[in-house]
Amino acid sequence: MLQNSYIAWEGNSLIDGSPIALILTGFVFPSFNKKTGSQMIQSWILQQEFVPTHAAKLGLDTGICGNCPLKMSEIGSCYVNLLPINNIYRKYKSGGYPKLCNNEIEVLRRYSYPIRLGSYGDPTAVPLKVWEPLISASEKYTGYTHNWREANSLWKQYLMASVHSISESFEAQNQGWRTFRIIAPDTLLSDNEILCRHTEDERIQCETCLLCDGKSSKPNIADKVHGLNWKISNFLKYLESTSN
Ligand code: SF4
Repeated sequence: MLQNSYIAWEGNSLIDGSPIALILTGFVFPSFNKKTGSQMIQSWILQQEFVPTHAAKLGLDTGICGNCPLKMSEIGSCYVNLLPINNIYRKYKSGGYPKLCNNEIEVLRRYSYPIRLGSYGDPTAVPLKVWEPLISASEKYTGYTHNWREANSLWKQYLMASVHSISESFEAQNQGWRTFRIIAPDTLLSDNEILCRHTEDERIQCETCLLCDGKSSKPNIADKVHGLNWKISNFLKYLESTSN
């Protein structure tokens, strides 16, 4: 019988070698994420040895987040709510998830479920060969990486480079990435960017928009910082400190 969640992979992080796991959720129950949409399969990249909130607080999350400046142990503005991810982690550690098999990959193919590559954690921590059967079965995906300076360049075809300034955008675009720039609410877009479609019109969701799917002739994307007020405030302070 089809389960809602599966372990897609366990192994050593390509970022720092620590043991990590990739969990997929959403095969049975819809996601309540208003931005990505209810049909999208979500993927969670977790450190195997630490509860997510603990790892984030103490900076034990390099294996899944790399050197992302938004980490809670850095500027503290990662928009991901870690409490539900603690529950996924605990169920994983208690042996509550089966391993993903070809049957579930066929479900992805048959129903063309879109997949979010890295709902939490940087997709490039997991070998591309683990993702490729999922990507090719679904054919619809979105994904982002803060690890674009170090990641295998083959990732450019699937992921957006997450950036936080115009100069970073140009650097990544010059290396062949499409970019996703997080901006302050009053920041102007550059000529080759459009605003995230969901921010423009909340009826549009990632599962049908799919603009954030890596290298193509589509425009680069920018989105206004969002999340809890204190996280937004930390992000704005970070932007200010990096503009000096
Ligand atoms: S531009 Fe589209 S795919 Fe990208 S984050 Fe916004 S709604 Fe999702």
